[in-house]
Amino acid sequence: MSEIQASLEAAARFITENEHFLVVNHVNPDGDATGSLLAMGWLLKQLGKQVTLVNEGTTPDKFMFLPGAMGIENADAVKEVTSHDVVITCDCADFSRVGRVEDWFAEGYHLLNIDHHPTNDLFGTVNLVRVDAAATAEVIFDLIQHMEVELTQELATCLYTGLLTDTGGFRYSNTTPHVMQAASSLLSHGVAPGAIAERVLEAITKPHLELLKRALQTLEFTDEDQVASMTVTLADMRETGAAGEDTEGLVNYARNVEGIEVGILYKEVPDGKIKVSMRSRSQVDVAAIATAFGGGGHVRASGCTIHGSIEEAKKRVEEKVSEALQEAGRRG
Ligand code: AMP
Ligand code: MN
Ligand code: MN
Repeated sequence: MSEIQASLEAAARFITENEHFLVVNHVNPDGDATGSLLAMGWLLKQLGKQVTLVNEGTTPDKFMFLPGAMGIENADAVKEVTSHDVVITCDCADFSRVGRVEDWFAEGYHLLNIDHHPTNDLFGTVNLVRVDAAATAEVIFDLIQHMEVELTQELATCLYTGLLTDTGGFRYSNTTPHVMQAASSLLSHGVAPGAIAERVLEAITKPHLELLKRALQTLEFTDEDQVASMTVTLADMRETGAAGEDTEGLVNYARNVEGIEVGILYKEVPDGKIKVSMRSRSQVDVAAIATAFGGGGHVRASGCTIHGSIEEAKKRVEEKVSEALQEAGRRG
């Protein structure tokens, strides 16, 4: 049996051998995290299991159209925590990504870790981690095939949304033949591609637009115009009425400038911390840089959180980015 088959088998066993599941995705969930969480919910319910779906905070508005999204619990809003001993994490590169949902885990819990980040540190009792997958939704698609579970329209819609968002609308280099085969199969199970793309890729909120106007004014080019960075402060968030999800995609404006290798967004968050989002074009491994600051992600898209002011975070990150650019230059 190949390693992939063995991990699919172990994950299938984890599911069949247990009855009550707590399923969690990462803090500040994106389309893949939300789609994967909901897909696991539908899969488990189809198998007659009891399921609780939870996130540390609220699910972004733009994913509330997904079937089952109303049923995701907001850990922040729940006063009485119930503990669970069987847990499944979706799209979490490391344990800390579950955030405060950690308080919902019983002592001696068993955990199935389903993910696709190369920086995943295999924190599960069982790990279904495929770094060649574009999205956690793709890994779950394979698990569903492996378990010979029927693809319903609900499942297909959730999985398709994960694939669509983590491939940037089937544009990034992670858009493999397997991604397209999976998408094709999902489309034949009732997915409405136009409506989903409209909702999760095309539609922009007014606060997002206001933030973009401000962020563009902070755009700064360094390292001989190989790096472009932007900043968003707490005041910007407050004054534009933006929610956390409204900063999503801003970093691409920096990264997409012709000739730029690394695009960075420094976003001030509460408690004296800066959330750093990094995107690279073709040479710099931004996952390695994020990992150096306790974060993680993918070679071309990563993130981390740094204590201090925007200026301090900038100084520390830019030093590492400059080193990485010099290293890439030496490699040619
Ligand atoms: P973002 O810049 O938040 O859109 O994140 C880009 C990628 O990096 C996504 O795949 C995230 O899952 C991952 N990522 C972001 N922040 C972290 C973090 N603190 N730890 C691990 N992975 C992260
Ligand atoms: Mn994610
Ligand atoms: Mn993902």
